[in-house]
Amino acid sequence: MESQTAVLVIGGGSTGCGIARDLAMRGVDVTLVEQGNLTHGTTGRMHGLLHSGGRYAVSDQKSARECIEENRVLRDIAAHCVEETGGLFVKRPEDTEAYFQEKLAGCRACDIPAEVLTAEEAREVEPYLAPDIEKAIWVPDGAVDPFRLCVANAASAEQHGGRVLTHAPVTDLVVEAGEVVGAKIRHERSSAKKTETIYADHVVNATGAWAGRLGDMAGVDIEVRPSKGVMTIMNVRQVDTVVNRCRPKGDADIVVPHETTCILGTTDEEVSDPEDYPEEQWEVDLVIDELTKLVPILGEARTIRSFWGVRPLYEPPEVGSDDPTDITRDFFLLDHAERDGLPGMTSIVGGKFTTYRMMAESITDHVCEKLGVRAACETADVPLPGSEDFSVLRDYMDEFGLRSPVGRRSVQRLGSRADDVLSTDVPNPVLCECEAVTRAEVQDALSAVGTDLNALRIRTRASMGNCQGGFCCHRLASELHPDHDEEVARGALDELYQERWKGERHALWGEQLSQAALNHALHAATLNRDGDPAKTGTPNWDAFDGGKP
Ligand SMILES: Cc1cc2nc3c(=O)[nH]c(=O)nc-3n(C[C@H](O)[C@H](O)[C@H](O)COP(=O)(O)OP(=O)(O)OC[C@H]3O[C@@H](n4cnc5c(N)ncnc54)[C@H](O)[C@@H]3O)c2cc1C
Repeated sequence: MESQTAVLVIGGGSTGCGIARDLAMRGVDVTLVEQGNLTHGTTGRMHGLLHSGGRYAVSDQKSARECIEENRVLRDIAAHCVEETGGLFVKRPEDTEAYFQEKLAGCRACDIPAEVLTAEEAREVEPYLAPDIEKAIWVPDGAVDPFRLCVANAASAEQHGGRVLTHAPVTDLVVEAGEVVGAKIRHERSSAKKTETIYADHVVNATGAWAGRLGDMAGVDIEVRPSKGVMTIMNVRQVDTVVNRCRPKGDADIVVPHETTCILGTTDEEVSDPEDYPEEQWEVDLVIDELTKLVPILGEARTIRSFWGVRPLYEPPEVGSDDPTDITRDFFLLDHAERDGLPGMTSIVGGKFTTYRMMAESITDHVCEKLGVRAACETADVPLPGSEDFSVLRDYMDEFGLRSPVGRRSVQRLGSRADDVLSTDVPNPVLCECEAVTRAEVQDALSAVGTDLNALRIRTRASMGNCQGGFCCHRLASELHPDHDEEVARGALDELYQERWKGERHALWGEQLSQAALNHALHAATLNRDGDPAKTGTPNWDAFDGGKP
C-alpha cells in the first residue's frame, strides 16, 4: 500500500503530537505515525511536573525562561490537563543558604514569580513537611496529565484534517537520490501486519530518545544521550503542592501530586538503549528514603508502582559532558540538509514536556518555510479540545451535581466535552472505583480507540489507581462485548493486565504485595485466567470440573 502526505511526523509523544497539531492548524496535510500508543515513549513515563522554570533557574536560565513562558500558555490552552498546585523549594538544615539565595535570584532573573516563606508559612501550605525544614521559596509549578494533553493534541490534529496512526512503527526511511522522500511503516494491529509506504514532501523525526535509530536508517548520526530516571507512585496524595528540595542538582529531590496519587522522583543515569536498561531496586529505595526526609509520612505510605523513563537529551558532540545532569534540557532542531547534506528530513531532539508546544512551533515554522506555507502559528492561543471554555468546566460541577468525587473527577478529565459524554439515557455505573471512571466515559474512549484497552487507560485513567486494575480490568474488557467477540476481549484484557503488572513488580512489599496477591487470587484463581480453557482450544470440561489443570 502507498500513500502521500505533505509532512510525515514520526513519533507520537508530546513533541510529535504538538507538531502534528500545529501543522494541521496551518492547513498542512500531515500524517503522524507512532510505533505504540500515543505517549508510548518518554511522554508516558515522566513526572507530570508543569515546570515553572524554578528547577533550572540557577543551572540553565534559557530553559527556565522557556518553561515559565510555556507554563503560562498551557494553563490557558490546556486547562483540563493542568492542575495549578504551586510548588515549594524547601531548605533543610544541611542545604546551604548561598544556594537558597541563588535560586531566589535566578527565579527573579527569569521572570518566575517567587516568594520566600518561613517554615511556618510553608507548613501552612503543605502540612506534612518535615519539622526541621527552615524555609521555602514558593513558585508557580503545576501538575500536568501528559496522556490527556497528548491525546488532545492528536485529536486537534485530526479535527484539522491530519491523519494519526498508532501501532505503526517506521521500519525504514525511503531515501531516493540522496533525499529522504518517505518511510515504510508496518500496521501492527492489522491481522496481516500490512505495510504501507508513506511518501512525504518532508519528514520530521520526533522520536525523542529513539532519534538516533531513525538517523541510522537514513545514514546520519544523531547524538542523543538517553538518560534514565525512576519514578515511584504512592497510593494517596500526601502533598497537594509540588515539593522540591532546594539544593544543587541531585537525585531524589521532588514530589509531584498527581490526580489521586503522588509521584516521587527521580534519578539521572545515562543508558545506551532507550528500551533496554536495568530497572534497579536501589533507585526506588533511594527516592523513598531521600524524600521521606522532606515529607516523613511518605516513609509509612504504600507504593503502588514504579516506572522508569528515558530523557531524550542531546548535546552537540563537541561539548562532551561526562555527567548527564550537566547536559542542557534545551531543545535542538537538526536540519539534515544543512548539517549532513541530506534534504527531506529534520529532527527535533532534547527539550522537555513543558516546552513541547514551543518546540513544535519552532519546527513547524521551519517546515513551513521549506514548503512555502505562510500561515502563522496559533497553538498558543487556540485552546485544545476539552479546554475551550474553562468556565464551562467549573459550571459543570454544579450543574450536574458533580460535587461528588465521581462526577467531579469525570468533569476534570473531560473538560468542556463533559456534557456530550456524560449525558446518557442508559445506566452509567462506575467501572473503575479507584479513579472514578464511569461506563459513559469508557464507552466514549472506546469509540475513539477500538479494542485497545491501554489506549482507553491513557484517556480515562481507568486501572491506574490503587488496585492497578485488579477490580476493573475485566469490567473494561467486558465493555467490548457485544461489538467484539470473546477472543478479542480476552486478548485486550491480557494486554492491559500485563502492562499494569510491569510497574507493580517494583512495589511488591507491604500493602501493595497484599493487593498483588489479591489480584492474583481474583484473576488466576477465581476467574481462572492462568488455566483459561478458552486459550487452549476446546475446553476439557471433565478435567475442569474435576479441578485438574
Ligand atoms: C524521569 C523523567 C522525568 C521527567 N519529568 C518531566 C517533567 O516532570 N516535566 C517535563 O516537562 N518534562 C519531564 N521529562 C522530560 C519529558 O518527559 C520529555 O522531554 C518529553 O516527554 C519528550 O517527548 P518526545 O515527544 O520528544 O519523546 P517521546 O515521548 O519519547 O516520543 C517519541 C515517540 O517516538 C516513538 N518512536 C520511536 N521510534 C519509532 C519508530 N521507528 N516508528 C514510530 N514511532 C517511533 C516512540 O514510541 C515515542 O512514543 C522527564 C523525563 C524523564 C525521563
